[in-house]
Amino acid sequence: MRVMLEEIEKYALDNRVPIMMKDGIDYLCNFIKDNNVKKILEIGSAIGYSAIKMALVDDEIKITTIEKDRERYDVAVLNIEKFNLEDRIEIIFGDALDTEINGEYDLIFIDASKGNNINFFNKYSKNLKKNGIIITDNLLFHGLVRDESLIKTKNQRGIVRKIKQFIEFLDNNDCFETEYLDIGDGIAISRRK
Ligand code: SAH
Ligand code: MG
Repeated sequence: MRVMLEEIEKYALDNRVPIMMKDGIDYLCNFIKDNNVKKILEIGSAIGYSAIKMALVDDEIKITTIEKDRERYDVAVLNIEKFNLEDRIEIIFGDALDTEINGEYDLIFIDASKGNNINFFNKYSKNLKKNGIIITDNLLFHGLVRDESLIKTKNQRGIVRKIKQFIEFLDNNDCFETEYLDIGDGIAISRRK
């Protein structure tokens, strides 16, 4: 199991797939364990790494995950099969901005395109159980959000602006209270007020 996970980590590194950083995924898995999370909706599967790690926390965990990139989706399907997790991880090929999901989840994990976090948050809060939690990744964007002198490209500047808008959206949200952690690439934990 460990070797298979290391193979996925290596593939991600070699192919520049931005899977969660080690301390980020460790935090997420501990959170799932400590809070008895069983049903998870993930936005942004990439090659299935975080979904597999989360599913391995407990046999009762079920995950629905959405990926819009065909190549990554195909690799994710193979990876999920390697771990025999097809019964517990449902992967959907499509754009999460226009996918319809039914059912309610204990945890919604947003880890897709940073510019759409507000849209994902608003769209999928209806799928969150009453006491459910939304966790969003990449709030630090490698430190560029806090130290804008690190920004080198126009594209990066655009992303930083979007992340700041998302943080403002969370800070002013009437329904959710958010805690920010400097773990991995920065994660936000939003709970209903
Ligand atoms: N959660 C993964 C990493 C996800 S990387 C892990 O830690 O293992 C982000 C992924 O989100 C990319 O593969 C990208 O293709 C996907 N993505 C971006 N925008 C999306 C959208 N609107 N709908 C579905 N997937 C999206
Ligand atoms: Mg991420």
